[in-house]
Amino acid sequence: ESKTKGGNCWTKYQTEFSTVSESKLSLEHDLRKAIENQDLVVYYQPKYNLNNSVITGAEALLRWNHPDHGFISPGVFIPIAEETKLIVPLERDVILKVCKQLAQWKKQKIELDRVSINLSIESIFQEDFIDYILKILKKYDIKGSALEFEITERIVMRNEEYVNSTLQKMRNLGIEISIDDFGTGYSSLSYLHKLHVDVLKIDQSFISNIAMNKAIISAVLSMAKSLDLKVIAEGVETKEQLEMLQLLGCEVAQGFYFSRPVPTDQFEELMQPGLAVS
Ligand code: C2E
Ligand code: MG
Ligand code: MG
Ligand code: MG
Repeated sequence: ESKTKGGNCWTKYQTEFSTVSESKLSLEHDLRKAIENQDLVVYYQPKYNLNNSVITGAEALLRWNHPDHGFISPGVFIPIAEETKLIVPLERDVILKVCKQLAQWKKQKIELDRVSINLSIESIFQEDFIDYILKILKKYDIKGSALEFEITERIVMRNEEYVNSTLQKMRNLGIEISIDDFGTGYSSLSYLHKLHVDVLKIDQSFISNIAMNKAIISAVLSMAKSLDLKVIAEGVETKEQLEMLQLLGCEVAQGFYFSRPVPTDQFEELMQPGLAVS
């Protein structure tokens, strides 16, 4: 289980170098190699329909299995990948891996509504991004409706027009768009109806202190309903949080209470009928 976290690895990593910039440089170098060597692995965290406890989808989350340092958390390497633009090939690799996996699962009769992939602004700004997606969908014979892209509130807010038109192109392919970490940005709510998005992901910080945030969550749920948006709660860790979400009328959730992000073989086990969490 600790493998999926990799939280301490960075500290270990850092102490081996004299300065932060030196370790960053080395990390960048290693990351480049990791992409080539296929040391990046996609884990999947299930999303549950709270009405019937069925897994409806999954979020693809990247893990770096470093040859010397073990599992390094995306919280560490994604920012470096973003700074160095390595994020573009890296995210394309995630999209490819997910589509390949979906094709494999289809053969195994493992059915999911959707798998979501986190996207950074750099990827969205690539002119050939849509072409790349089309190419991969075709290669693995996957429908756009099998995918969802998660984009943070900040990205959308800062680049409204450009991002919005790109999002619409993705939605025309059947891909759903969700706003990740919803509620943590500086955004006003008034822009929401203008955005071409489908899902709000309530940030885990609201869930971890759910008693205090009941009114906010409730407001988000009713606003989403009137704007015809879906809602998912992320970071559900306890039964109390789950029960409160059900009480408030939230229908989909993900979090450690149900499952951590897991490698594909473990995800397949979760998908076996009869193992639904109640
Ligand atoms: P995120 O997209 O908001 O993903 C949710 C994070 O919360 C994941 O951390 C997940 O493991 C963690 N999480 C899920 N359930 C729980 C819970 O019940 N409690 C707690 N405390 N945490 C929970 P992870 O995998 O370390 O990823 C961190 C962030 O790194 C992600 O946040 C996402 O922004 C980014 N990331 C991961 N993979 C990719 C990727 O392929 N591309 C990009 N651009 N970003 C990625
Ligand atoms: Mg996400
Ligand atoms: Mg999130
Ligand atoms: Mg997050």
